[in-house]
Amino acid sequence: MKDRYGRSIDYLRISLTDRCNLRCRYCMPDGADFLPHSEILRYEEILRLARAAIDLGIHNFKVTGGEPLVRRGAVEFVEQLKQLPGCGQVTLTTNGVLLEELALPLARAGVDGINVSIDALDPARYAAITGYDVLDKVLRGVQASLAAGIRTKLNCVLLASAEPEIVPLAELAGRWPVDVRFIELMPIGEGSAGGGLPPQRARALLLERWPNLHPVNERRGNGPAHYEASEGLKGRIGWIDAVSHRFCEQCNRLRLTSTGELKPCLCYDASVDLRALLRAGAPDDALRAAIAQAVEHKPAHHCFDQYEEITEHRRMAQIGG
Ligand code: SAM
Ligand code: SF4
Repeated sequence: MKDRYGRSIDYLRISLTDRCNLRCRYCMPDGADFLPHSEILRYEEILRLARAAIDLGIHNFKVTGGEPLVRRGAVEFVEQLKQLPGCGQVTLTTNGVLLEELALPLARAGVDGINVSIDALDPARYAAITGYDVLDKVLRGVQASLAAGIRTKLNCVLLASAEPEIVPLAELAGRWPVDVRFIELMPIGEGSAGGGLPPQRARALLLERWPNLHPVNERRGNGPAHYEASEGLKGRIGWIDAVSHRFCEQCNRLRLTSTGELKPCLCYDASVDLRALLRAGAPDDALRAAIAQAVEHKPAHHCFDQYEEITEHRRMAQIGG
C-alpha cells in the first residue's frame, strides 16, 4: 500500500516482547518495568493483525523485541506467520544468546533470514556493553544459524568505546559468508545520551584494512542498508546510518509494539492502538482501516537531527527495534 508521499509500505516489524536476557548499555542497561502478560498481544492476536496487513500488501515481516527468542512459542509463531496465505519473507532479529538451540527449529519453521546483534568480539568489551559474558554462546549461535542454512547477517551498533572492534567485526565477513552491518547509534532511549562512533570514522578504519572496499548497488533485504564489497571478504559490509544519511524517502515500514501499538515512525510517539480494537471485537475491515490510517499518517521523515522534535522517549526494546 502507498502512503501519501508515494512510498510503498510492505514491511512490518513485529515486537514479540519488551523483555530481554541482555542489558545493552545503549538500550536497557538497568532492565525495565516489564509489562504484565495481559498487556502483551497474544500470538493469535498478532497473526490476525498480520493477516489484515497482508490484505493491504504489507507482506514482509521482521520478528523482533526486546529479545524475541525469550518469549515462549516464538519459533511456532514464526512458523504460523510464514504459513499465512500471501506472507512473503519472515526474518528475525536476535541477540543470538538462544540461537545455538533454536537455529535449526527456526530453519524448519521457514525463517528467511536472521540478523544477530553483536557489538564487540573482545569478550570483556562484549560483557561491558551487554552486561553478560556470553560472547562465545552468541558466536556459536551464529555458526548454528549458518549450519542450518539460514541467511545470516551481523548487526553492530557503532560505539565510540568499541572503536577497536570495527575491523575484527568486519573480518567476520571474511571468515564466514555473512554480511556485517554497522548501525549508527540513534538518539532513542539510552542512545540519546550519545557515545556513538561516526560511520565515517568506522569506514576510514575499514579502508585502511581493505583499501579496495567499494560500494555495490545491491538490495540484500527489506531494509535501508547500503553495501560495500572487497575481494578479501565473502560477505558484504553494510551501513545503516539513519541519522547522518537520512533514508526516509525509501522507508517501507511500520512497527507493531508488543502491546499492539502500530507506529508509523521511530522518531514520534504517534501510534494506532490495535490492541484496543482487537479486544473490543473489531471486524477485519476495521483492523484494515486502522492499519491504513497508520500508513496515512506516516510522516515524511524522522527528526533525529532536531532533538527537541523527538516525541518518542521510550527505548528500542519497548518500541520494537
Ligand atoms: N534483542 C534483539 C537484538 O538485540 O537484536 C532485537 C531487538 S534490538 C532493540 C534491535 C536492534 O536495535 C539491535 O541490533 C540493537 O543493537 C539496536 N538498537 C537498540 N538501541 C539502539 C539505538 N539507540 N540506536 C541504534 N540501534 C539500536
Ligand atoms: Fe536486549 Fe537487543 Fe536491547 Fe540489547 S539491544 S538490551 S539485546 S533488546
